[in-house]
Amino acid sequence: MKPIQGLHHITAVASDPQANVDFYVGVLGQRLVKTTVNFDDPGTYHLYYGDEIGTLGTAITFFPWRTMHRGRIGSGETSAMAYAIPRTSIEYWRARLTDLDIPFEETNLRFDDPVISLADPDGMVVELVATDDPSTIQFWKDGPIPEEHALRGFHSVTLLLNTLPGTAALLTEQMGYDFVGQEGSRFRFCGASNDRGLYVDIDVQPDVPRGSFGAGSIHHVAFRTVDDSEQLEYMAAFRAAGQQVTSVQDRQYFHSIYFRGPGGVLFEVATDEPGFLIDESIEELGSSLKLPSWYESKRDFIEKTLPPIDHPDFSNTLSK
Ligand code: ZN
Repeated sequence: MKPIQGLHHITAVASDPQANVDFYVGVLGQRLVKTTVNFDDPGTYHLYYGDEIGTLGTAITFFPWRTMHRGRIGSGETSAMAYAIPRTSIEYWRARLTDLDIPFEETNLRFDDPVISLADPDGMVVELVATDDPSTIQFWKDGPIPEEHALRGFHSVTLLLNTLPGTAALLTEQMGYDFVGQEGSRFRFCGASNDRGLYVDIDVQPDVPRGSFGAGSIHHVAFRTVDDSEQLEYMAAFRAAGQQVTSVQDRQYFHSIYFRGPGGVLFEVATDEPGFLIDESIEELGSSLKLPSWYESKRDFIEKTLPPIDHPDFSNTLSK
């Protein structure tokens, strides 16, 4: 059983699907790589964004529930997700966000890296960490961002917790993460990824109350395991350590197990295979509604239930 290979995907809750598309595609320049439905609630979209092919460690997914009230960040959840950008791109992103009237803040350096912090349309905290060593991605050439400034996949997630030890032990003793540093209340752990989604930060705030789940909340963080057999080894190991782990769930594009960590954060361990190209070509990714086989007989009803989404088109953009 190898160490966990870094972040697989992040899943969050949104309200309006169009606003979600407009922000992640139109502002951040991520490609909508899969348009499907919530397998437990097929009248709701499940939208996946990433680099050109949704490379693992770039994929963020949303359930947009139009009537969902806004959540409030608190302990026991993932309080922020961060993309990496090249250090040389920070001016570009300051100018782009200013031009688009997107408010942002620049925090103190974090482990020597500048951080731009903004909120998505539902108030979810999205950070851009400007690093000298940004990871590699498969660039989406039809997007709105020039290649040299494109987001480089996930840099990290921040878990907001009241205490450190339980989750730190989970990461280091059961998932193969290494503790690599502390800065104030922030404790950083590094995974064994090839290069994307390396870091899990734990922000220890003993007095922060529990959050209120809603739009803008990060539902869970998924970690990479290479295949089904290793996933079963992880399942057995987590159970032996006392975690309440679900059975394997077929998520069509990967297979997943879930458990709630000691600090309250919902973790998923997901396989690399079969991947997003199982039902679409690279050119087609995200362009039409994909349903798992067990929902195909209900396609007409589902398509009538879902609100239409306009896909931003940058093909005529003269200057990026
Ligand atoms: Zn997931």
